[in-house]
Amino acid sequence: MRLLIVEDEVKTGAYLQQGLSEAGFTVDVAITGEDGLHHATTSVYDLIILDIMLPGINGFDILEKLRQNGHLSPVIFLSAKDRVEDRVKGFELGADDYLVKPFSFSELLARIRALLRRGRTIESHLVSVADLNVDFLKRRVTRAGNRIDLTAKEFALLELLIRRKSEVLPKSLIASQVWDMNFDSDTNVVEVAMRRLRSKIDDPFDIKLIKTIRGMGYSLEDPLAS
Ligand code: CA
Repeated sequence: MRLLIVEDEVKTGAYLQQGLSEAGFTVDVAITGEDGLHHATTSVYDLIILDIMLPGINGFDILEKLRQNGHLSPVIFLSAKDRVEDRVKGFELGADDYLVKPFSFSELLARIRALLRRGRTIESHLVSVADLNVDFLKRRVTRAGNRIDLTAKEFALLELLIRRKSEVLPKSLIASQVWDMNFDSDTNVVEVAMRRLRSKIDDPFDIKLIKTIRGMGYSLEDPLAS
């Protein structure tokens, strides 16, 4: 597994490189935004750890360029920027995770492993979350063996929740991903669709998979996995 670290603080970069190498990864380090973007676009990485405040091109711009060009490698932002707005922006741009500095190396490593694991699950078209089973090819959903019929939008919503399992997804992000609506749109449509989706996949069952995080958004979690 090959990782790219884009980090201008030389000590942090060296510390990460050493720790992640010891954990069995092959690690490249870039210390400027331009160098990072160059590495990310000319080599293939299983995961990229991206600082935000960088000389030259900042981390947000790097990720935006990567996603615009169809690069799908998982990206974890690792930044001292700890405001909710920065984290939301990171996810809006297509980040897979966001960890605030100062960080714990063991937590970073756990998050890297979780993302790489998820990547492998997503490659398969059959995904299970607790007793919910989804076949993305046949677009078939069952829970506890019961077939569940979803509309196209409900399926798209469930797909997004599953592909970004355990992440808190802001309503605005859901609106942009599932309805292609912009950031400022009324998010009521998300709430209504979420209610319908829950009435089908959660309400009839004891264990609830979709969580509402007040003031933040929604998250799909496997309550038995953690
Ligand atoms: Ca920095």
